Amino acid sequence: MPLPKKSPEETVHRLYQQFDRRRRLFYLVASLASFPSILAVWLQHHQENPFIAWVYPLLMVFLWIWSLALLWPRIPLTIIERSVLAGVSLLFMSKFIFLLLFYKDPQQQWAEIEAIFWVFVFLFILSFMTFRRDLALGYCLTITALSLGVGIWYFWGFSHPLWVEFVRLEVRLAGIALLIFLLARAKDELNQTIIEVDRIQHIAYTDLLTQLPNRRAITALLEEHLLHKRKLAVILADVDHFKRINDTFGHETGDRVLREVGECLHTQLRASDVIGRWGGEEFIILALEDQPQRVHQLTTRLRDVIEAHPFTDDIPITLSFGVALANDHDTLKTLVNRADVALYRAKNNGRNRVEWAEPG
Ligand code: GH3
Ligand code: MG
Ligand code: MG
Repeated sequence: MPLPKKSPEETVHRLYQQFDRRRRLFYLVASLASFPSILAVWLQHHQENPFIAWVYPLLMVFLWIWSLALLWPRIPLTIIERSVLAGVSLLFMSKFIFLLLFYKDPQQQWAEIEAIFWVFVFLFILSFMTFRRDLALGYCLTITALSLGVGIWYFWGFSHPLWVEFVRLEVRLAGIALLIFLLARAKDELNQTIIEVDRIQHIAYTDLLTQLPNRRAITALLEEHLLHKRKLAVILADVDHFKRINDTFGHETGDRVLREVGECLHTQLRASDVIGRWGGEEFIILALEDQPQRVHQLTTRLRDVIEAHPFTDDIPITLSFGVALANDHDTLKTLVNRADVALYRAKNNGRNRVEWAEPG
């Protein structure tokens, strides 16, 4: 049941924080897992391959720096991602040029080029995680254009047996960039819709004046509790002689008193109890509790706290309470009705007091 405890913005912020934590962990595992393979390639090939001999140790140093940065939550994740993006792009673009210029064995050269293009695909995905989708697409198309430019220069004359393969590789790369862009756009639009639905739900379930759950929200929650046969008490609380407050101090002061009463009651409750505005100057508390003496303690404490609370303009405020414990046969109507009858008795017996409903 979407109780309006958190605003949609808070929910989105929490989800982003969760996504950040998961990404950090994923990068850390990926970074530590790739370290042994880079070391193995260096050990195998550093004598015959100057690129591996010089650049791979640099890569290993960067991997350690990035891993340490990932462990330090104060360093923003986007800064780490962007530096990885810049560093790895530079590295593999230079490796690509190096391969074209210095590799003599065409089969091995092609295998290495294909491996580099897979790294580009990884970088494309990373770019969409760290940049806005239009900037990320710009980055992807720049990488594609640069590699294409270098390739055209290398394959110029088009007599090389691999030039058609190279063009196919580039087309695939551009296709992947566009596909990720479309996916990112669909995801952004979906997120927007979810935020919008959340916002509408928040409005629909929140009382405008007190910002507490409204009658609709409490009704839904109470029905859920009854459906699952949860042990609970319903406490109705009504401001005594509220009409006089409106008549004496004006409607605006009356509104402020209602807000203060709501806040004051809310701060007294446990996290598992829910308070809402039932209507007018009447509040409702759903307490997940089946021990009558505990419910009684809670309700008399609420009564005492409100009586002692220094309300604005020193207006003396008291509440009358009607309490009903849910039984197995209760429906929403019978349960609230019994609490209402008890409240009526509290009013008749002098107000500023707690009355219990007859067991149903
Ligand atoms: P009792 O002790 O018997 O409950 O007396 P009461 O005056 O509190 O009860 P009554 O039902 O006679 O009056 C309730 C008043 O609450 C009348 C209505 O104008 C006022 N009221 C209802 N909703 C609001 C609101 O949102 N803001 C303000 N300022 N007043 C409201
Ligand atoms: Mg009243
Ligand atoms: Mg009333």
